[in-house]
Amino acid sequence: METRADLNQSTLALLEKSDISEEGISAITITAEKSPYFAELLNDAAKKNVSITLNEKQQGTYTEKQSNGKIVVVIDKSFDPGNQNNGITNIDKNPIIFATVLAHELGHALLPGGNEGTPANDPAKAAITGDNNEGVGLTTEYIVAKQSGLGAPQTGYMHSDNGQGNQPAPGTLTALLDDAAIQI
Ligand SMILES: [Zn+2]
Repeated sequence: METRADLNQSTLALLEKSDISEEGISAITITAEKSPYFAELLNDAAKKNVSITLNEKQQGTYTEKQSNGKIVVVIDKSFDPGNQNNGITNIDKNPIIFATVLAHELGHALLPGGNEGTPANDPAKAAITGDNNEGVGLTTEYIVAKQSGLGAPQTGYMHSDNGQGNQPAPGTLTALLDDAAIQI
């Protein structure tokens, strides 16, 4: 039986069942080989029956909990490296960035506090929860980006450094998180 990275058969089945392109699945498995944390997240997603699906281009990336309790991760098709002319040069240059988008959403889907519901009648709590949610997503994305060797100008930055491309700039999210990590 062929195994790729440390991904379980059920995890590979989850990816095959999604509408992610071959190139996208390849980017995911390559990243899982480099990042044990990412492999663990993917295996956990399969175990918890999380669905991963692509959205139409420019229609958004998010994680939702359905009323039956099932968690669905929805990724904008523009991020899938199998899409020609997706217009996102970061991903054209390094498809692994697609995997960091997925890692971000899996953080929301799986980690404690990542996807907490917020009462609509309480804007103050909504703001706090929103911040917490993004913290969880960004931390997950950052760990996977670091383990897969992103973060240098030659290799590109994590997805949430959107717009920075491969040009290093002080103040990118990766740089800010690096500074924060040094202080921990
Ligand atoms: Zn997020």
